[in-house]
Amino acid sequence: MRKKIVVGNWKMNLLQADAAARATELKELVGESSGCEVGICPTFLSISPVVSALEGSCIGVGAQDIFWKESGAFTGFLSAAMIADAGCKYVLIGHSERRGRFGKLEVPESTLGFFAETDETVNLKLKAVLGTSLTPIVCVGETLAEREASKTDEVIAAQVNAMLDGIEAEAFAEGVIAYEPVWAIGTGQVCDSTEANRVCGFIRSVLPASIQASVRIQYGGSVNPANAAELFSQPEIDGGLVGGASLKPSDFIQVIRSAS
Ligand code: PEP
Repeated sequence: MRKKIVVGNWKMNLLQADAAARATELKELVGESSGCEVGICPTFLSISPVVSALEGSCIGVGAQDIFWKESGAFTGFLSAAMIADAGCKYVLIGHSERRGRFGKLEVPESTLGFFAETDETVNLKLKAVLGTSLTPIVCVGETLAEREASKTDEVIAAQVNAMLDGIEAEAFAEGVIAYEPVWAIGTGQVCDSTEANRVCGFIRSVLPASIQASVRIQYGGSVNPANAAELFSQPEIDGGLVGGASLKPSDFIQVIRSAS
């Protein structure tokens, strides 16, 4: 049976001292064992203080992105080895906010080209992570316009196939996929649990047969203490990727317990 995994995405929030303080609070709430796998993805700058704060706990730390090259003239980027060296266990790849696909647009539409993640860069990043100590969490999901045009399955199948292009299936056997409908991220509009379960099952069916049983598929998009238990009780949903509700340890612990 797959172990559920709940990961908090702190996005571009919290200065280092605050991040460390919230990690410490969460560590105390979680205690020795959480009953499911738990991770937090703070900003790059807060990775080190959060790793220190979580020493001796079962909570892992993740980065919100990486670059696919090992080193070189790539100003401002970080490699998989660098974030592993900083103590990370997880890395998010292809979050919709990096793909320029926002549930709630808080930047001028004319700047969306700045958020340049594509299916091809997701694939390159995944290749860079496989074979390292990091567990990749690859995000996929449809926009509202794509859902309304009945293109959800088509869009998601294309994202999953592109992500695995040129990769031996077994290399991703322990990987994680987060199904995050873009329209549900940061909007308070959660996907109905039956539909979220259906899409997670669909994602599994798109995966190569040899890894269908092992890959964990999370749901993400406005998960909170009130809806987490219903979502996580669905057979195809192996936990959650949680944004807003992961910032408050007293809320996040309730989400974690819902998966335990
Ligand atoms: C996310 O950042 O991946 C996310 C799902 O955010 P939220 O829970 O705030 O919708």
